[in-house]
Amino acid sequence: MFDTSNQPPPLEPYNLFTGDIVLREAVAREQASWAQGSLTALGATLGTPDTVKLGFDANKFTPQLKTLDRYGHRLDEVEFHPAWHELLTIALQAGLHSSPWAEPKPGAHVARAAGTYMLTQIESGVYCPVAMTYGSVPTLRNAPALAKDWLPKIFGRDYDRRFVPVKQKSAALLGMGMTENQGGSDLRTNSTRAEPTADGSFRLHGSKWFMSAPMCDAFLVLAQTAKGLSCLLMPRWTPDGERNAIHIVRLKDKLGNRSNASSEVEFAGAYAQLVGEEGRGIPTIIEMAGYTRLDCCIGSSGLMRQAVAQGVHHARHRTAFQKKLIDQPLMTNVLADLALECEAATVLTMRLARAYDESDEASLAIRRVLTPAAKFWICKRTPFLCLEAMEVIGGSGYIEECIMPRLYREAPVNSIWEGAGNIMCLDVLRAIGRAADLADVLRRELDAGGDARLKSFAAALFKQLSAAERNDEAQARSLVRDLVLALQAALLIRHSPPAVADAFCASRLSESRGGAFGTLPRGVDAHTIAMRAAPQG
Ligand SMILES: Cc1cc2nc3c(=O)[nH]c(=O)nc-3n(C[C@H](O)[C@H](O)[C@H](O)COP(=O)(O)OP(=O)(O)OC[C@H]3O[C@@H](n4cnc5c(N)ncnc54)[C@H](O)[C@@H]3O)c2cc1C
Repeated sequence: MFDTSNQPPPLEPYNLFTGDIVLREAVAREQASWAQGSLTALGATLGTPDTVKLGFDANKFTPQLKTLDRYGHRLDEVEFHPAWHELLTIALQAGLHSSPWAEPKPGAHVARAAGTYMLTQIESGVYCPVAMTYGSVPTLRNAPALAKDWLPKIFGRDYDRRFVPVKQKSAALLGMGMTENQGGSDLRTNSTRAEPTADGSFRLHGSKWFMSAPMCDAFLVLAQTAKGLSCLLMPRWTPDGERNAIHIVRLKDKLGNRSNASSEVEFAGAYAQLVGEEGRGIPTIIEMAGYTRLDCCIGSSGLMRQAVAQGVHHARHRTAFQKKLIDQPLMTNVLADLALECEAATVLTMRLARAYDESDEASLAIRRVLTPAAKFWICKRTPFLCLEAMEVIGGSGYIEECIMPRLYREAPVNSIWEGAGNIMCLDVLRAIGRAADLADVLRRELDAGGDARLKSFAAALFKQLSAAERNDEAQARSLVRDLVLALQAALLIRHSPPAVADAFCASRLSESRGGAFGTLPRGVDAHTIAMRAAPQG
């Protein structure tokens, strides 16, 4: 028999909210204290062994496409394992797909961000339709008649897995179809046609190279009309109760995100209705992209949190060379470095979520500039962090019974989806050019007392921002990285314990930024930082 004496207990059951100091502090600080009760309940549900198992099952028993029935009639349905449906039931009951729109109040986007941050730690695939539904609402409101019909269903919390017309359902989910084979970043190359009909609706002809969660009830799609690229709502069923002519060609065989179906589709005259002004499809659907990009930050920060929680938990229980791993100085350095990255990502994401709760000019500027900036940097850091956290666990971290391989495979997707890294950085350049008072807004955000390291880093950043070469595209990644690091440092100085802020400034604002985690300089309080990240309770 194997000697299992030196193996850590599984990290379950545990409460993903009450056990997470950084998240609790952020929720209170960013105006969502009122949600603590429901977040505590959600954190407990997500941390039970049964829910954790749902995440594993939904990824093991992956979605299956049924294109035709046995007689050759079109079905275009995707079958999911029951675990997928149970996870969506939990997500919708918590309102993660629409609560800030259904019940707007100060802190609503922050509260929802905290809930989705926890969901993504247990299962990220279901997060895809949840995020797209959340993001769809402001875009859909550009078509008041459609919004009147659809919003009550989108606000529904009683998840309805049936593939039936939306009128018969208790809740609806929305997806989106923008990416075509010939171009995903450059959406102007979209060639799907939308032909008008006498009743004012359109018929779509063409294809989409990526359309995730194809069992959603409707999709916001881009297609060319006589006036140019336009945004349309395409339901899975026509108003006559027929299956809409959306042919699912195949499901993508993806690196990660395997519980979720991502499809290639053809439109054979699919019914659709215009959303927003004809010919202004990109500005109309880009509103949705702001929210889904925020969700990429939330999702990736959540992946980081789960990886760090698992790593610290393991290191507290596993002994090597007569000491717990967490007490081996070099491992303490690694864990502290990982914890710093995660805390910085989390505080920035929650600060950004608050900007979506507010509508003053400064918040709008923060949204425009910081959403793509944070998406770029947080999503870029996540795969490296997951890799290092996997190594903390050693060989067992590489084995599929551990959540680490799933986190690692999931980690790159948020960086590509909704605009890859370069596109985000170019977007930041454009947003900086348009935001008139940005320098003042940033000065306020970066005003964090007297830390000399931040002061000199911020001074160099402002120089970069005001210089003519600010628009040098080739340097955009460096500029955006520095912008994010400065903001993260300011937030940590203001809100986190001195040990955290000090270590972040010492390691991230210095010239010799490490190429690997575990390179914090001498003098930082690594043990305190690592223990702050330990799941509590
Ligand atoms: C799992 C998954 C699910 C997805 N689900 C959906 C979905 O539901 N709906 C949907 O519409 N799409 C979806 N996508 C597609 C995704 O949004 C696109 O893949 C993404 O926007 C990039 O487009 P592309 O693949 O055509 O790459 P390209 O546009 O060909 O870009 C390739 C690379 O070139 C870079 N690049 C492009 N232009 C420039 C430039 N001017 N300067 C410098 N670099 C540049 C990009 O940053 C990128 O790194 C999904 C993708 C994945 C992986």
